[in-house]
Amino acid sequence: MAERSIVVVGAGIVGASLAYHLSGQGRPVTLIDSGLPGSGVTRASFAWIGRPATSDRPSAPLRYLAVDEYRRLEAELPALAIRWTGSLVWDGFDDSPGPLTGDARALEPNLIDPPAEAAHHPDDAALDPVAAAEVMVAAARERGAKVLVGTTVTALEQHAGRVTGVRTTAATIPADTVVLAAGTDSVALCAGVGVELPVEPSPAVLVRLRAKPGVVRAIVATPALEARQLDDGTVLAPTVYSGEADQAALHATAQRVRDRFAAFFTGAGDAEVISVEVGWRPMPVDDEPIIGAPAGTEGLYVAVMHSGITLAAAAGRLAAAEILSGRPAPELEGCRPTRFH
Ligand SMILES: Cc1cc2nc3c(=O)[nH]c(=O)nc-3n(C[C@H](O)[C@H](O)[C@H](O)COP(=O)(O)OP(=O)(O)OC[C@H]3O[C@@H](n4cnc5c(N)ncnc54)[C@H](O)[C@@H]3O)c2cc1C
Repeated sequence: MAERSIVVVGAGIVGASLAYHLSGQGRPVTLIDSGLPGSGVTRASFAWIGRPATSDRPSAPLRYLAVDEYRRLEAELPALAIRWTGSLVWDGFDDSPGPLTGDARALEPNLIDPPAEAAHHPDDAALDPVAAAEVMVAAARERGAKVLVGTTVTALEQHAGRVTGVRTTAATIPADTVVLAAGTDSVALCAGVGVELPVEPSPAVLVRLRAKPGVVRAIVATPALEARQLDDGTVLAPTVYSGEADQAALHATAQRVRDRFAAFFTGAGDAEVISVEVGWRPMPVDDEPIIGAPAGTEGLYVAVMHSGITLAAAAGRLAAAEILSGRPAPELEGCRPTRFH
């Protein structure tokens, strides 16, 4: 076994951040993905980076760090090109009253029917999630990490209760620590070494529209519509998955989103559907991140979470620091896998 080597399984936003933060620190790091960076659910994400105003969730210390950690990460990796647009939320979206009451008409001049009151979160942001994963993987590689794409981990190697590496379609790769950031597939890999990971695949739909540039300024979110717009006019709009069985049903969903978008904004009447896709989110059963070493195993560290885009910068830095130092990060205490046992 290479000296204190680390294998990270999964190059989605979470694994890419982990690999970046782990690499260049004196321990050999190998990042493995069955596809390309960001090709899992990360590619179907709305990619809103938000900080709760208040939270009593066990993961609150991690969530409060999320936005600041992206500012730090962007200073290190300017190519992340984060869009610091802020967000505007109303009609009780997410039950989260904002810290400020904003003038929706001033913030989003093209809203046809602006709400009298809306919560404005000026620090919220968004990014291109695939590009972000690629940037972090490239930076990890520059820091010395080995990156294996198109390589599937078929099982974790285990000897005498200790995870000692991974088996791939190509070879067995020994490791002192295996970090599992394989999204929904982490469940089966854990089960193979007797670890139950209570994570369900939870579908959500991402609709992409083509619209005139400059219609939407920030991230807008109401129970009826979530949307943000890129500089080239592309609109991203996530929506719930209602069990659409085929492409025709999905396309009908996308048309409904398009119609809502057109009804919300002046200048959006000629918006067209570009694409619609379903993403399978790794959803811990209690909706809280699962970060740390599962009980009863050595050599294994799990990083599986919903809101993985929001949390990736903070979780990646904190998890890497504790893997490298052996000192637990207090901000992750509410996220431990041991809470289920
Ligand atoms: C419509 C929609 C909107 C969303 N909006 C937001 C949002 O606004 N903000 C937010 O924070 N989150 C949002 N999410 C959730 C967010 O996208 C996910 O939490 C996040 O992308 C999870 O990243 P991940 O790296 O854990 O998983 P993934 O991106 O799935 O990465 C896992 C990687 O592991 C690889 N892999 C799996 N199995 C193996 C194996 N056996 N061997 C090798 N490689 C393997 C896969 O190829 C994949 O690349 C949204 C999701 C959807 C679908």
